[in-house]
Amino acid sequence: MKHIDIYDVLNNPTLIGQETVVCGWVRTFRDSAQVSFLELADGTSFPRLQVVIDKSALTVDPECTKLGASVRVKGMVVKAFKGEGNELNASSVALLGKCPPEYPIQKKRTTLDFLRTIPHLRLRTNTFQAVFRVRSVAAQAIHRFFHERRFFYMNTPLVTASDCEGAGEMFRVTTQPWNASYKTEEEYYKNDFFGVKAGLSVSGQLEGEVAATALGKIYTFGPSFRAENSNTARHLAEFWHVEPEIAFAELPDVIEIAEELLKYLIRAVLAECAEETKFFDTFVEKGLIDKLTHVAESDFAVCEYTEAIEILKKENARFQFPVEWGSDLQSEHERFLTEEVFKRPVFVTNYPKEIKSFYMKQNADGKTVAATDLLVPGIGEIIGGSEREADYEKLLTAMKERKMDLDAYKQYLDLRVFGSVPHGGFGLGFERFVMYVTGMENIRDVTLFPRWTKNIM
Ligand code: ATP
Ligand code: MN
Repeated sequence: MKHIDIYDVLNNPTLIGQETVVCGWVRTFRDSAQVSFLELADGTSFPRLQVVIDKSALTVDPECTKLGASVRVKGMVVKAFKGEGNELNASSVALLGKCPPEYPIQKKRTTLDFLRTIPHLRLRTNTFQAVFRVRSVAAQAIHRFFHERRFFYMNTPLVTASDCEGAGEMFRVTTQPWNASYKTEEEYYKNDFFGVKAGLSVSGQLEGEVAATALGKIYTFGPSFRAENSNTARHLAEFWHVEPEIAFAELPDVIEIAEELLKYLIRAVLAECAEETKFFDTFVEKGLIDKLTHVAESDFAVCEYTEAIEILKKENARFQFPVEWGSDLQSEHERFLTEEVFKRPVFVTNYPKEIKSFYMKQNADGKTVAATDLLVPGIGEIIGGSEREADYEKLLTAMKERKMDLDAYKQYLDLRVFGSVPHGGFGLGFERFVMYVTGMENIRDVTLFPRWTKNIM
């Protein structure tokens, strides 16, 4: 069906005076004595196309005027009678698919909670179309950012035997029947598809290190899976993960790239999604554009974990979980730091080694590791990263302390045997970024089909 995107009809002045065909869904219908107006959306543009119907020349099937119906309109592109852009003077309106009145997307604003129950239809709304256009633009910008800096795009395994410290959070992959019965666990896995225990990757980092210690600078951008039982507005069982890994880099280099990436992505969204961000600024988060513009232009804060604890301890009375040195930061602490104390994104650095992963570089103080989390207002942690331990003996000690299976990590340890180099990287939760730039408060509303505990489609 040869037709033109509504985006083009609205924006391309050379189409004025031309006969064209557009397809879309009816958003509104208005009728007056001589003319009637159909507003169409086809998903390509935020503003809709106004179709003008001269009633003396054209009779339209009433089904074509129903909210949600899909139609094909032929007509002449003309400059809009009112306002900017173009509109279409219809010469024919054909029905593609009618839409009965029980269509659940009605004009009066429905709640996000309700829309979450109809994920297959909620994308017909302005809000969700805007979210997913922003998401797509941001994804493109991620590839552009890394490509421009000669980071190579790697695809790391999704089904894997390595569990990247996330033992309890890993979904298992198996072809064993539900009632398989073996005397031992070992026997069970031996007879399974891979002959060993396998699962869905929680992070591409360990394989990313393999690539970075050969290609220099790499990134992965793909799904990660976490079977964590956290029923929050920031966690999904399946999310998209951006993970650069850089050879010859120390913690400050990692921080610099993370800050540069975030600002680059924000600028891309502001520039390429002006209509969408304006919409979010008006209806979702007042002041969003100012916030993003400011963040793209100012320096992020950096704060040592030890200093953060000093600040938080003075406020312990307000927290559900009071902190002391050694505590893992909860969402309430993260948000207090970024929203109340620094009032901008803040990198917290050098965490106690006990609350972080085995692979993080051990600092000279013997107590902390060169890790960093980037905290942003409204969300809390958006990035987690670190310099990696490049010293074979130190890495081995950390793994032994955690009683890890050293055989399973032979290849990982080898990277520290054969030409070990300082290196580091981070993981950015893509959905959390989309939340941040749209102001959407629930991660389930920036994902096509969100999956979380007891919820899957
Ligand atoms: P959190 O403390 O928020 O649970 P984490 O410390 O487990 O996150 P990392 O392992 O550091 O997360 O993963 C890197 C990034 O991936 C996080 O900063 C976050 O943006 C994102 N992320 C982690 N887990 C999830 C999840 N379940 N759903 C969506 N995004 C996630
Ligand atoms: Mn983290």
